[in-house]
Amino acid sequence: MTVLWFSRRVAISDALWKLVLKAHPILTELSAAEQAQLRTLAEEFLGSMQFRWGSGVERNEKTRAAVAVLACLPILNLGLRWYRRWRTVLLVEHDYDTDFFEVDEAGVVHEGVDLASGEFGTLGSVVLSLADVAQSGKGSGFNVVVHEAAHVLDCADGSFDGAPPLHKEMDRTRWAEVFTAAYEDLQRRVAGAPRAETHRRTAAPRYGSKRRRRNIFDPYAAEAPEEFFAVASELFFERPRRLQAEYPAVYRELALFYRQDRVS
Ligand SMILES: [Zn+2]
Repeated sequence: MTVLWFSRRVAISDALWKLVLKAHPILTELSAAEQAQLRTLAEEFLGSMQFRWGSGVERNEKTRAAVAVLACLPILNLGLRWYRRWRTVLLVEHDYDTDFFEVDEAGVVHEGVDLASGEFGTLGSVVLSLADVAQSGKGSGFNVVVHEAAHVLDCADGSFDGAPPLHKEMDRTRWAEVFTAAYEDLQRRVAGAPRAETHRRTAAPRYGSKRRRRNIFDPYAAEAPEEFFAVASELFFERPRRLQAEYPAVYRELALFYRQDRVS
């Protein structure tokens, strides 16, 4: 049986689309054709995804559209089927204090302690802090929506290991060599720097603000290979030229996987 779970579309009006483009400078780098494709994908995403709003969070059409558009940027040339395991977006106001925040298939929110994978849960839910969503898409390198979307893609083959299922034309060995070398290089660079206090991605700088960052990567990326892939994906869409200049091999592998070239 074929399940057409994303057959419904929720239209993004012209006015709303303009607002979303204006609020996210990275989207202006896209061609007109890519923008049109992104808008359609985001409309399908809105039709397929359940949005839930944490306590105290006001339902907001612009936020919902912004999350959909940013979430669809990585799958622009891959398709929505890559998100078939992703069912729910839970929007909370700030970085949430609860270590474990999960929505089950019946829509019931469970809270507990210690979920190592942070905001992407095993039941197909992604929790996003609105404060962090508001800082995404600005070209700074930080993008919590792309970060969590990358985790979803990583898990598309059932394993959360920093490597999404690669396309047939890609070389698995090369991917592993490139990402392992870059990850180990970053681990050496951040050795001695303060460790992130939680296993969670936030917009807060990990180095002191006066200390010049020595590397394009947030040290959080050195926590685990899956975090490296997610942070590299943020950079691919937020600061592609700098990523290509500093980590050309990583940039190339990501361009092959995402089927996008963000510097041309
Ligand atoms: Zn993460």
